[in-house]
Amino acid sequence: MTGAGAPAGTDWRPTGSTRLAAVIGDPVRHSLSPVLHNAGFRALGLDWVYVAFEVGAGGVAAAVAGARALGVAGLNVTMPHKAAVAAAVDRLTPAAEALGAVNTVVRAGGELVGDNTDGEGFVASLVADHGFEVGGRRCLVVGAGGAARAVTWALAGAGAAEVVVVARRHEQAAAAASLAGGVGTVGSAEDAGRADLVVNATPIGMGHTGACAPHLPVDPTLLGAGQLVVDLVYDPLTTPFVAAARARGALAANGLGMLLHQAALAFRLWTGDEAPIDVMSSAVTDHLTRGTEVLT
Ligand code: NAP
Repeated sequence: MTGAGAPAGTDWRPTGSTRLAAVIGDPVRHSLSPVLHNAGFRALGLDWVYVAFEVGAGGVAAAVAGARALGVAGLNVTMPHKAAVAAAVDRLTPAAEALGAVNTVVRAGGELVGDNTDGEGFVASLVADHGFEVGGRRCLVVGAGGAARAVTWALAGAGAAEVVVVARRHEQAAAAASLAGGVGTVGSAEDAGRADLVVNATPIGMGHTGACAPHLPVDPTLLGAGQLVVDLVYDPLTTPFVAAARARGALAANGLGMLLHQAALAFRLWTGDEAPIDVMSSAVTDHLTRGTEVLT
């Protein structure tokens, strides 16, 4: 464990030896990462602090160089800089290499190592929150962007029997499906009816509450009992897709599980400590239910 020895709870104050972690993105002002990581640092009495830096287009290489020069101990990366950071670090883990995207930077010796905990965090949340083991399951992912790619890659890595990718642009869908190797295919939304797990990895439904088209990525009449539906969106907490899937008898959850578990993996990589997920989860839920505007 590094940076330990600070008092737990509200007595903590930054000092000359406080370690810094940060997220870079644009926009980043409404990121939940400072909320959950600072809650984790305080709960474990770690002398760390986490802040958000808005980095504009073209500023990524300078931001990474600045983080290196300042000795920033841990970095998260959010939209739209995940690919640019992959090009700016010294080395990539296999996950970041496969996805061409970095969401977490770790210092190892003199090097900055780019990792990607999004997919592993998603799979960890399925197990932790729903007891859902991916091995042998039929999965369907709607979307072919960064989140869909991470989820598709991780589902295949966790032993899914099939990962069907559904997207409005065939080329992007095929590229995402290829990340699942032999179990990845391009399909259509109708395939949701025979999937054990259905994931919305598009922004469809974000900021909306009405559980009807056009705020649903899949026709909910295809869904039912025995299926797990995960909407990576979590604003609102009960998304239109979650509400519609529950109304059909499916088990459904928003994207907070993935957010928490990708953060917990980063937390452990930086500090060497297991993240206090329950504390971090409560901090985020409190923050959101206070009505704060959120962007993912
Ligand atoms: P992204 O890279 O921009 O990809 C978005 C994908 O959704 C693309 O395939 C896009 O298709 C598709 N899409 C967008 N609007 C659509 C529409 N109206 N109909 C059909 N397809 C549509 O974004 P991302 O980073 O993957 O994020 C996707 C969602 O996941 C966002 O809501 C984000 O907030 C959420 N997310 C959550 C977490 C978490 O921890 N819970 C982590 C990452 C992302 P085109 O390319 O054709 O536009």
